[in-house]
Amino acid sequence: MIEGGLPLPRVLPPYLHGLFTGAYGGPSEEESNPTCVNNVETLSHVPQIIARGPEWFRSFGTADTPGTMVFTVLGDVRRPVVRELPLGLTLRALIDAAGGVAEGRAVKAVFPGLASRVITADRLDTPLGFDAMRDAGSALGSGGFIVFDDRACMVKAAEMFSHFLHVESCNQCPPCKLGSGRISERLERMMTGAAHPHEVEEIAETATWVTNGQRCYLATSEQAVVGSILDAFPDEFAAHLSGTCRRRHDLVLPKITDYRPGEGFTFDEEYGRKQPDWTYV
Ligand code: SF4
Repeated sequence: MIEGGLPLPRVLPPYLHGLFTGAYGGPSEEESNPTCVNNVETLSHVPQIIARGPEWFRSFGTADTPGTMVFTVLGDVRRPVVRELPLGLTLRALIDAAGGVAEGRAVKAVFPGLASRVITADRLDTPLGFDAMRDAGSALGSGGFIVFDDRACMVKAAEMFSHFLHVESCNQCPPCKLGSGRISERLERMMTGAAHPHEVEEIAETATWVTNGQRCYLATSEQAVVGSILDAFPDEFAAHLSGTCRRRHDLVLPKITDYRPGEGFTFDEEYGRKQPDWTYV
């Protein structure tokens, strides 16, 4: 519960820092106290910056993204890691820090969490900083990266990511919930060989309106992740339509948790195959 209500995303124009109980049934906004909401990682830098000074902190990283970050690398790497490193190292160097991909394999795709466009192998030398990652068409996010090697099926990746975002969509904005469901259904049919050719276009078309009226970034994530896979790997969608995909479908992914109304969050052992009961509003 937050401020006596469900912890759902909401629109608060103009942008406000912190939480103001006055707007939600407490005393007046002028009387209420803002709450400091910040990232634990950010707050952990504060004592070091106070003790050693900002110049010490700026000696790490790049001019626009100074300091260090706690990176997470998993997927098709030999040693999945959580490690604090200076910003500005390349994505390739970060993957090497996780042992690289298996002998004889090559990196095919990297996903910065589930919120940004896929990074393809030709952009692995991008320095890890906010501007550089944005210029490369993606984002640094919170420093978590999922790596797939050249055996991985990108249609399967799109299906699993879209399913997760659909389940996690809180259902406040119909285009987000319905659009992510529409995309997920079509991707699932692609995996079973039951999809029609026009469904690739329907996925692309749905991705254009899934963000309409959105209250938070989740719908943008659906648009960015699925849209970028469609853009980068059209041949793989064609292979599924023709039934000729021979790529690996058992992708290495973090455990994904589904929200179950009345039960809270439970790990879904049969992830990807169950449809949750969406009676929750
Ligand atoms: S965009 Fe999606 S997840 Fe975000 S508030 Fe709307 S329905 Fe909920």
